[in-house]
Amino acid sequence: MELLDGKRVKKEFFEKLKEEISKLDRAPGLAVIQVGNDPASEVYVRQKEKMANGLGYLFKHIKLNEDVKEEELLNIIDELNNDDNIDGFLVQMPIPKHINPYVVQNRINYLKDVDGLTDINMGALVHNKEFLVACTPQGIMDLLEYYNIDISGKNVVIVGRSDLVGKPLASLMTNSNATVSLCHSKTNNLKSFTKRADILVVAVGKPNFIKKEDVKNNAVIIDVGINRLSDGSLCGDVDFESVKEKASFITPVPGGVGQMTVMELAKNTYKAYKLLKTNVKH
Ligand code: NAP
Repeated sequence: MELLDGKRVKKEFFEKLKEEISKLDRAPGLAVIQVGNDPASEVYVRQKEKMANGLGYLFKHIKLNEDVKEEELLNIIDELNNDDNIDGFLVQMPIPKHINPYVVQNRINYLKDVDGLTDINMGALVHNKEFLVACTPQGIMDLLEYYNIDISGKNVVIVGRSDLVGKPLASLMTNSNATVSLCHSKTNNLKSFTKRADILVVAVGKPNFIKKEDVKNNAVIIDVGINRLSDGSLCGDVDFESVKEKASFITPVPGGVGQMTVMELAKNTYKAYKLLKTNVKH
């Protein structure tokens, strides 16, 4: 079994990226809008700020009260759409229930949509003309590429069909010639799918959901889940200790997909920066 070490891949990529950034006449700018005080969001926003500071990006954190009106949030999005120092931005999810996330996400100019969630970027991905792709699925693709893991012709099984992970990943995998099964809570006999997977991706949000008996020998296991246990520790959706005995490759949690997600956000911001520099109209 070999570990798919997201931390190492990110570190190597950041070393090269930092060098490129140091040669630019203006730092790439990333902004995050946070609404309310969701504790997990606090952690994720701090992680993004740390990444941006480490790379020399400009970082803008806009924190809004829980009861902010949707219109007010949309106005702030418009301002960022027109801000020449901000190349990419995102609205940290979840947002309060009185605000429609679909409307919010689609207000972001697709050229600054570093989360890849606008209809334009999602649609382009389905058409294999992708530009800015959701960070976690793209991170999984880059991790597999780094370890020279072939995708073409493979049975790829994804458990979880969220807009953020499962759906865009199914498109990326299809575009890379995998045969994809996208499973979810209504899938009949889930195990019959997971046991057939050459590459199994699990994004469910339930600790140790996938066990040794659910996977086939030598499968590649990608664990997207991040679950906080009552003792404060983190674990994935895969029972790492038992599954690693059967896997050819497996991601650790933490240190796997989460690291790649941060790396892709930096990459998308730089991509958006280069686009703005070439004077594409926003
Ligand atoms: P989500 O929106 O809650 O979606 C969960 C998916 O799992 C849904 O499609 C759901 O099916 C499916 N599911 C739930 N119970 C199931 C069951 N018993 N059998 C089969 N499928 C089941 O979650 P998400 O945003 O994709 O996140 C999933 C996990 O990944 C969470 O732990 C999250 O924290 C983590 N995550 C990590 C990163 C990272 O960077 N590592 C990034 C994003 C998310 P239905 O659609 O039928 O309800």
